[in-house]
Amino acid sequence: MALAWRVPHISTGDILRLAVASGSMLGDAVKDAMSRGDLVSDEIMIDLVAERLADLDASSGFVLDGFPRTVEQALALDVLMEERGRLAVVELSVPDDALVSRLGRRRVLEGRADDEEAAVRERLSVYRQSTQPVIDFYRTRRTLLTVNGNLPADDVTALISRAVGASSSSATAATPRT
Ligand code: AMP
Repeated sequence: MALAWRVPHISTGDILRLAVASGSMLGDAVKDAMSRGDLVSDEIMIDLVAERLADLDASSGFVLDGFPRTVEQALALDVLMEERGRLAVVELSVPDDALVSRLGRRRVLEGRADDEEAAVRERLSVYRQSTQPVIDFYRTRRTLLTVNGNLPADDVTALISRAVGASSSSATAATPRT
């Protein structure tokens, strides 16, 4: 989708996984929290996103994937979005059972430590505690688009495109539940 819109796809999870794989200071700082399924600190995440959004390729739009995950991050994103156009926030809604079975398949295919059953349970509980309030934060400000994420990938892509197109925005943040 980011490809079709000619804007970068910025996945905070991908950036962190690369940092862990490269053994950088950032990677060392985040790897334990990630493998437990816990969130990385707001301070680290907000700095990381602020830096990435300052890159030239993000100047005319971007798809943020996995950020914001806390109300603190959502407030920081508001500040980052000042004078950058409108933010479209998309919630991909998927029942817990479907998520658990998807992550079980991904664990076999990709071997991600945070797809182990204990980490998945932790991530679902972190979602309820820290990320659900982000949904409420955007819903009360009428900026939330909810899309059924429990459909084939192409259908989900089409639904997101339509929802974001209808809200005619230039930037997107997504708060997926995995
Ligand atoms: P994801 O690939 O988006 O599921 O992210 C994988 C892991 O990276 C999460 O379980 C967190 O440990 C960490 N992470 C990614 N994005 C964030 C964020 N916005 N805030 C805190 N931790 C994050």
